Amino acid sequence: MSFTDKVVIITGASSGIGASAAKMFSKEGARVVIVGRNQEMLSATAAHCPSSLVVRADITVDSEAQRVIDETVKKFGKIDVLVNNAGGLPVCRDLTQDGLIQAFDSIMNLNLRSVVHLTTLAAPHLVKTKGNIVNISSVAGVVPPFGPGATNYCVAKAGLNHFTVCAAVELASHGVRVNTISPGPVSTNFQKNANYPTEYEKMAEGTLLKRVSKPEEIADLILYLASDRAIGVTGVNWFSDNGFINKR
Ligand code: NDP
Repeated sequence: MSFTDKVVIITGASSGIGASAAKMFSKEGARVVIVGRNQEMLSATAAHCPSSLVVRADITVDSEAQRVIDETVKKFGKIDVLVNNAGGLPVCRDLTQDGLIQAFDSIMNLNLRSVVHLTTLAAPHLVKTKGNIVNISSVAGVVPPFGPGATNYCVAKAGLNHFTVCAAVELASHGVRVNTISPGPVSTNFQKNANYPTEYEKMAEGTLLKRVSKPEEIADLILYLASDRAIGVTGVNWFSDNGFINKR
């Protein structure tokens, strides 16, 4: 899976799955674009990635998403792979609480709208390179794995799954592949950032294999789907959930 001289944008590369993916792509020779908001954590990832570019950006702000693409093309001249990994559940509201609809806008913006926006900005560049896109969804896009407060997140990830299929159909004639990975629980900063009252240890009990994934396991799949080894794979939603879905 050589990515020598491939230019790979990874959103949410300051932490967790995205940081692991950045390091693994870099090890395989890619020039990675490390995107996120936390400068210290972005720099920590970049320290493991020679020939990388850090773009500090909030991808939910349209002008900042545009800057991610502009700075990448200015520095490296092309885009081969877009990994739409940034996401999360920073605002929890259940359907009986005030503020649900404001939370909806914010969660949809982070987990779905920003992906649609970055896809359309990157698409002309990916058409030129016959590149591909890997989106990071969740088991939450298929079953509601959490209690009240996470409905917005589940709906956003379900939308992301369907967006992937639509984008795969639309971009196939240009030679651009688009795929999704749906992880179950993965030990990252996700739950800390979500401030959601569920512990990883308890989530392991909810899986057939009684385990929580490491971010490297998901990163490994990202590299596979982004590589030429997956040349015939487009529009799929690949689960890596320790059997979470099938335990339901
Ligand atoms: P982390 O919280 O460790 O990482 C989330 C990343 O998203 C961070 O790098 C964060 O960077 C970035 N991010 C968040 N908001 C923004 C924003 N507005 N603009 C730019 N970057 C942003 O969690 P994970 O690594 O686990 O999450 C990665 C993906 O995996 C997400 O899409 C998540 O929904 C999905 N997922 C995670 C699961 C899990 O159990 N961990 C399970 C299923 C799916 P910064 O703070 O620097 O902006």
